[in-house]
Amino acid sequence: MEHFELNILGCGSALPTTRHFPSSQVLNLRNKLYMIDCGEGTQMQFRSMNLNFNRLNHIFISHSHGDHCFGLPGLLSTLNLLGKTGELVIHGQPDIEKIFRPLLDYFCSNMTYSVRFNLFKPNKNELIFEDKTLRVYTIPLKHKIPTCGYLFEELPKQPHLIREEKSFRIVA
Ligand SMILES: [Zn+2]
Repeated sequence: MEHFELNILGCGSALPTTRHFPSSQVLNLRNKLYMIDCGEGTQMQFRSMNLNFNRLNHIFISHSHGDHCFGLPGLLSTLNLLGKTGELVIHGQPDIEKIFRPLLDYFCSNMTYSVRFNLFKPNKNELIFEDKTLRVYTIPLKHKIPTCGYLFEELPKQPHLIREEKSFRIVA
């Protein structure tokens, strides 16, 4: 298995405490960061755990209760101040774009990077994201509002072709 590390930035519930931040985890897979939920204070935890903002291009939100997404506006604004380029994808149910697109339009006009929402219905198990590194599936969960968990499936590393004198060698 390649580098696969889960950082728990927050695991508290809706009420803030001095011991726990609200929910947020960051999966580090081959030095790409995938955030799952973004509760308040997430960007501070990001810094205190020495995670690299430049490596974050995907955020997965489980549901639209505040303790799972109130950290988004601050984090998105900070990424803009840091001059992030390229695209950040926020994966979640349609409410997430309804809530956060107006905030982005108001606070983050002329962004250095683009934000794309990948929206889906959280009530079924489906593949919502795939790249060379992993596939991500939704897992419907029981909660007061529509909610899903995420299954991250690591994909085998692509073999490399190594040029030798007169032939190629395939290395897994
Ligand atoms: Zn909730």
